[in-house]
Amino acid sequence: MNIQQNLSVIQNNISEACKKKNRNPQDVKIIAVTKYVSTETAQEAISSGVEHIGENRQEGLLKKQNALGRDVTWHFIGSLQSRKVKEILPYVDYIHSLDRLSLAKEIEKRADRTINCFIQVNVSKEESKHGLPAEDLVNFVDKMKEYPHIRIVGLMTMAPHTGDEETLRSVFSTLKQLQQDIQSRQYEHAPCTELSMGMSNDYEIAVQEGATFVRIGTSLVGKEF
Ligand SMILES: *Cc1c(COP(=O)(O)O)cnc(C)c1O
Repeated sequence: MNIQQNLSVIQNNISEACKKKNRNPQDVKIIAVTKYVSTETAQEAISSGVEHIGENRQEGLLKKQNALGRDVTWHFIGSLQSRKVKEILPYVDYIHSLDRLSLAKEIEKRADRTINCFIQVNVSKEESKHGLPAEDLVNFVDKMKEYPHIRIVGLMTMAPHTGDEETLRSVFSTLKQLQQDIQSRQYEHAPCTELSMGMSNDYEIAVQEGATFVRIGTSLVGKEF
């Protein structure tokens, strides 16, 4: 794995995708998802210039951050059990998987600072996917005003496993529409300016459709386990 080289390929692809849509590539941040790789490999990613690290489990987050420190920005991207909230909160800069009221309650109860959260939306309506149903989103965001430690920075989704470009595009553009709807409501607690969407196989389409954070594992840092 040459992470430096992978990163530069991905940055180029993002620039191309941005060019097609008149976007500024600086508005797209790359989160290196390190869940399948060692702490050493994650360190290599940081040395190559990665500024955002994403982990989907408590164990990986704590282990890597304890070794690598807080100079990078840490994202919790996995589905989050309420009983793990207390333990991960001190380690996270962003949570990408807020998808239910009980989780919001737990975050509110445990937080001693404002926690930046993405609401995970189940746009594709796959049974297997976590996330809030799109039709519940507006009510959910509205409810979050009662949770002063939670700041809704944006929306997140996982696209279905498919190579079908139109399907992917439609999932991403739906998330963008939802984001714009929330943003237009000008909630103080929910600026909702960000879109976390796009992984190794679909990030170029996600960027064309408005992603501001892409979460890339395999094609950036590889898969060791
Ligand atoms: C694993 C994971 C990714 C990265 O997946 P790749 O296909 O390896 O790029 C992105 N987002 C979430 C939520 C993940 O769990």
